[in-house]
Amino acid sequence: MSRSKQLYRLQQLDSTIAHAQVEIKEIMTILGQDEVLQKALLNEAAAKGVLEKKQKSLRKAENDVKDQEAKLKRVKAKLYGGNITNHKELEDLQQKSASLQRYLEVLEMRQLEAMMEVDEAEENHEQTTQALSEIRANREEQHAELLSEKAALETQIRELVENRPGLLTNIPPKDLELYEELRKSRAGIAVATIANKSCTACGTRIPSAIYQIARSPSQIAQCGTCKRILHGG
Ligand SMILES: [Zn+2]
Repeated sequence: MSRSKQLYRLQQLDSTIAHAQVEIKEIMTILGQDEVLQKALLNEAAAKGVLEKKQKSLRKAENDVKDQEAKLKRVKAKLYGGNITNHKELEDLQQKSASLQRYLEVLEMRQLEAMMEVDEAEENHEQTTQALSEIRANREEQHAELLSEKAALETQIRELVENRPGLLTNIPPKDLELYEELRKSRAGIAVATIANKSCTACGTRIPSAIYQIARSPSQIAQCGTCKRILHGG
């Protein structure tokens, strides 16, 4: 196998490892994100708060009605009890009873409105609870998928790392040194293939002399522009 071919194979293996590592990182990011869940939790808590407030208002409205009914009952008892015979006093009581009755109707209307508001708040709360549980279920499903994907990538990396020393055995140390140096300084790509007599990494046309060296199994040629090791043609 030519020197450049060996480095090219090493390059493919290292790129596959790097790609799998990037994918794992992306999965970890997604697993760490819980904005949607956080939003659903906030919505549910807010709806619960509204519901509790409306329930409190309803209890107050119910008590107001009860108090008013008791007041009216007391006035009516006096009015129809037969103990009061004074005409003026009876008239006053009648007026008071009528006024209490009118206000009772106002309070009953308020109670009805409060009941409707509680119903609405209950419905709204139920919707947020349902949305929350759906998000939780989806999340679990999504997480299970991502975790199994991550495990597969980790296995792949492990196997590639185990195979790497085998690829290194026939590579001359100075080639490996050049490869590692270029990999660091050239965004992980140390070997560029040749297509149409040009470097596929940077597009530079390869002069014939360099091209001949690149084709030779015993020599290493580098791109004049990006300095990557050239392979193929
Ligand atoms: Zn180049």
